[in-house]
Amino acid sequence: PALSTVSSGNCRITVCARKRPLLKKEIKKGDVDVVEMENPEEKISLIVREPKLAMDLSRYVIEHVFNFDSIFDAECSNYSVYNTSVQPLVQHVFNRGTSTCFAFGQTGSGKTHTLLGSDTDPGLFLIAAKDLFGMMDSCSSGLKLWLSYYEIYCGQLYDLLNKRKKIYVRENGSQEVCVAGLTETPVTNSKSLQEIVNYGNKARKIGSTGVNSQSSRSHAILQFEVRDFNDDRHGRMIFIDLAGSERAADVTDKDRQTRVEGAEINQSLLALKECIRSIDHDKSHTPYRQSKLTHILKESFEGNAKTCMIANVSPALSACDNTINTLQYAHRVR
Ligand code: ADP
Ligand code: MG
Repeated sequence: PALSTVSSGNCRITVCARKRPLLKKEIKKGDVDVVEMENPEEKISLIVREPKLAMDLSRYVIEHVFNFDSIFDAECSNYSVYNTSVQPLVQHVFNRGTSTCFAFGQTGSGKTHTLLGSDTDPGLFLIAAKDLFGMMDSCSSGLKLWLSYYEIYCGQLYDLLNKRKKIYVRENGSQEVCVAGLTETPVTNSKSLQEIVNYGNKARKIGSTGVNSQSSRSHAILQFEVRDFNDDRHGRMIFIDLAGSERAADVTDKDRQTRVEGAEINQSLLALKECIRSIDHDKSHTPYRQSKLTHILKESFEGNAKTCMIANVSPALSACDNTINTLQYAHRVR
C-alpha cells in the first residue's frame, strides 16, 4: 500500500528518489531500464523489477516497491527537482533556519549532476543561490551570502577553496561545533559563485587518482551562510554530495586502503541515517559524534533544521542491486 505523501513545505525531513536516464554507453552494451515510476503526478511509488533465475532456469521478476515524498523520472530537470524538494528549504534559510540537502546513491547514479549540474542543466546549489540572491535583494536587509566548500575523506577534512589544506572539527564547552580554519568566501552573484565552485571542483579532482576516482570515496560539502550586517549568522544551507554508497561494502576488499575507506564510509552513512531519523523521533539521542560527517552536521539535526535527501538511482539492470540498496537506505531514513 502507498504511504500518504506530506507536503514538503511543513515537513522537517523529506525523502525523494531521482532516476537518471540510461546512458549511451549502457544502451550500447545492451543494458535495460528496470526502474519504473508509477503515477508520477501522485508522486509516490517507484518499482524496481529485478529479474532472477528460477529453479527451472526460466526467468521470473521480483518487484520491489518503494514510496517516497516525491519521485523524479529520467526526463526531469534539476529545476523541477529544485522546485519540489529544495525551494522550501531555501525559504527556511531565509527565515533563519538551517537546511541540508543530501545526494545519496552509488557512484554514477547522478549525485554530482543533481547538486553541481552540467553545462545545460544548472545544479541545485546554483538555483538555490539565485533564489537566495533574489530574496536578499527584494528585502534590502543588508544580508550577505558566504560560501565554503570542503570534503571529508577517510575521516579527514580538506578545504577545497584552499588547496585541499587539512582543517579540523572543533567542539566548544557549549557543544557548538565549528570547522576551524575553513575558508569562507563572500559571493555576490551567481557567475562568480560558479567560478569559485569550479575552482573547488578542480581541487577535488586533483585528490583523485585515475580510474579509482577519489570523488566516489569522499563526501563533498558545499555550504552557504546568510549573514546580517553584524556578520552574525542568519541562516545556513548545506548541500552534500555523499561518497558512493557502494563503497560502504568495500570493507572486505583485498586492498587495505580500500577497506579503510569502505569502513569509514560505512560508518558515516550508518551514523547519518540514525541522526536524520532522530530529527523526527528521539532528539535526545542523536549519535552525531559517531562520524566526522555527522559531527560537522550537528546543527542539521537540531531544533530549527530541515532536511531533504535525494536518493539518486541508475535505471540500469546492471546496477539493480545497488539501486535496491540505495532505495532501502533512503526509505529507512524517515
Ligand atoms: P555520481 O556523482 O553519482 O557518481 P554523476 O552525476 O557523475 O554520478 O552521473 C554519472 C553520469 O550520468 C554522468 O555522465 C552524468 O552526466 C550522467 N547523468 C546523471 N544524471 C543525469 C540526468 N539527470 N540527466 C542526464 N545525464 C545524467
Ligand atoms: Mg559524483
